[in-house]
Amino acid sequence: MRSLKILGRSSLSASEDDSNLAIAQIKMFSKQIPIMYTMVVVNTIALAYTHVALTPAWLGIYIPAVLVSISALRTFLYWRVGKIGISAQQARQQLRQTIVLAGVLGSVFSFWALALFPYGTAQTQGHVAFFSGVTCLGIMVCLMHLRVAAFVLAVAAVGPTAIYLIFLGPSESVAVGFNLVIVSVAVLCILSRHSRHFGELISNQKELKDTLLRAHKLGKENELLANTDSLTGLANRRRFMSELDQRLSNAAGRDERFAVGILDLDGFKPVNDIYGHIAGDRLLIEVGRRLSELDSGTFIARLGGDEFGLILTGDLSDTDLQSTGDRICEMIGKPFELDSFTANIGGTLGLAQYPDAGTTAKDLFEHSDYLLYVAKERSRGKAILFSEKHRSEIQETTGIKRCLQEADLEKELSVNFQFVVDSITGVPVGAEALARWTSPTLGIVSPDSFIKNAEQVGMINEITEILLRKSLDEALKWPGDLFVSFNLSAHDIGSSRHIEKICDIVKNSELPAERLTFEITETSLLLDLERANSTLHRLKGLGSKVALDDFGTGYSSLSYVQKLPIDRLKIDRSFISDLEENRASQAVVKTILDLCGNLGLDCIVEGVETAAQLAALRDLGHMKVQGYFFSKPLPGYDALTYLKMLPVSSWDASLSA
Ligand code: C2E
Ligand code: CA
Ligand code: CA
Repeated sequence: MRSLKILGRSSLSASEDDSNLAIAQIKMFSKQIPIMYTMVVVNTIALAYTHVALTPAWLGIYIPAVLVSISALRTFLYWRVGKIGISAQQARQQLRQTIVLAGVLGSVFSFWALALFPYGTAQTQGHVAFFSGVTCLGIMVCLMHLRVAAFVLAVAAVGPTAIYLIFLGPSESVAVGFNLVIVSVAVLCILSRHSRHFGELISNQKELKDTLLRAHKLGKENELLANTDSLTGLANRRRFMSELDQRLSNAAGRDERFAVGILDLDGFKPVNDIYGHIAGDRLLIEVGRRLSELDSGTFIARLGGDEFGLILTGDLSDTDLQSTGDRICEMIGKPFELDSFTANIGGTLGLAQYPDAGTTAKDLFEHSDYLLYVAKERSRGKAILFSEKHRSEIQETTGIKRCLQEADLEKELSVNFQFVVDSITGVPVGAEALARWTSPTLGIVSPDSFIKNAEQVGMINEITEILLRKSLDEALKWPGDLFVSFNLSAHDIGSSRHIEKICDIVKNSELPAERLTFEITETSLLLDLERANSTLHRLKGLGSKVALDDFGTGYSSLSYVQKLPIDRLKIDRSFISDLEENRASQAVVKTILDLCGNLGLDCIVEGVETAAQLAALRDLGHMKVQGYFFSKPLPGYDALTYLKMLPVSSWDASLSA
């Protein structure tokens, strides 16, 4: 092989190390070699035919017969390679064989042709010279993809023929000999360049293929990243939505059911706030891991924050689905043992079934989101299934939202006032402003419904500003120095720009800011405690007070009392409804009253409906009270009349009744 190496890298690579080039060369050969041998066979038979009568049989019949058979065999071998393919190693071996055979067969053919020379006439000698020249050149062209083989053939076949014609043949053949040498050299030069280009082409092709492969791999990696939640390794929201689309198109037209679930963690935020973000992240990873233990047909994704998306497949009946949902909530409700502490959280799950709850991704997703919202309010820590009741609720809220957006808020919004009285004297000390919306289409809509819808459509800030202005204007008309208590929503507290507007309204009102109390609920503090704290300080900076509403219903009411600048607690009416007979409720109310006494906080008991409740409260201490027993929320004018007209002694009268 050393001699071959001298002939150049690109040719050599075929037999040495460049597998791609070797395979490409064999591929080309599998098409060219059969043509080459056909040419050789035809020329050989033609030459033998013109000499068969002039030469002995071994020269005119047997040798050409053997040569033709070998040629046929080689043709067959190459044709087969073209059909079944070949490994790189086999390709290199075959190329080596081709080079050797180019030398061996080339010289055998040319010696056979030259052996015919002395037997013939000038005419047949011309045929021999023509046969040798044309056949050699033809073969060289066919071997163009393997430069070495073409060179070897030139040396083994053209060489002896040319030498014979120049030095040993008749004088007329000298010119033919030289001609053959010159043409062969020219052909070799061209082939050499062509062969080099072919090598470069194959290596460029390989580079291109590698680049494409790398790009494809990179694309796959990017796709994976774009579809994966980096914290939990679960699918992300984007992937969830595309999976949902996919499932929908698979299920279309078939009698298939599946369910979309949104799971929201209860109590995740306190873990994050108290133990830090790293602990929060660990908890989310563990939740993801626990969910992944669900059966393999369940698709799980993290939609963001502490929200997970599920697609549950299988022909699940509503009962099956409910029990699967309950099982998932139970699973999340079990304690999570993290590095330094145990996290006790819960999971609330909204499940919307295809096709009953919706037939589009948007409907199913929105409906399970709605269910989650409902479940968070009514049944935390549980799974809730979509039903017709929810559909009409959604229709109702959609109607409310639409009407809100079209409403003339200045005109349609009003404020009612419910008095807060002293539990001993029965004298009104203030009043809570309660929003009322009279829609020309829907009639009177309760604040419980329209406030949350206004929050969802981003109109609450505007509504709060209108209501606050109206409340302050009314309160200004009241005799004495009664306070007015105004409710803020979570969305009011969350926006610092809006809080500045609220401050401006208070400053622009003639009512002293000291007579204004802002009521906030625990849920409004859940979003961002730090921001809530600075907002409350900002409001207190005006001189106003802050009351914590619905006290005792949340998870961590007490911690808010400790962390935030609160002046007043409003004990939720749920503790009052059974106060006379329920000793636990009495104990809770008494404890809160003592707490307020110790911390110097003001206290209002809400929802007092009966004289008996008031009597029971009076036994527990002195406080402020509010409820239907004293008055329902009244429109501004009525409240003013009530204040002016109603003698304080009448409450005492109803007490003794
Ligand atoms: P809330 O702040 O707890 O207001 C007290 C609610 O209890 C009022 O309902 C009131 O009418 C009702 N109530 C008062 N006394 C009794 C009683 O003795 N028994 C019973 N069963 N209920 C009583 P309302 O006016 O329907 O308001 C409901 C909720 O809507 C309010 O609860 C408050 O969270 C929200 N809200 C009302 N006005 C506004 C407002 O201007 N802004 C904001 N953000 N929320 C408001
Ligand atoms: Ca309130
Ligand atoms: Ca309340």
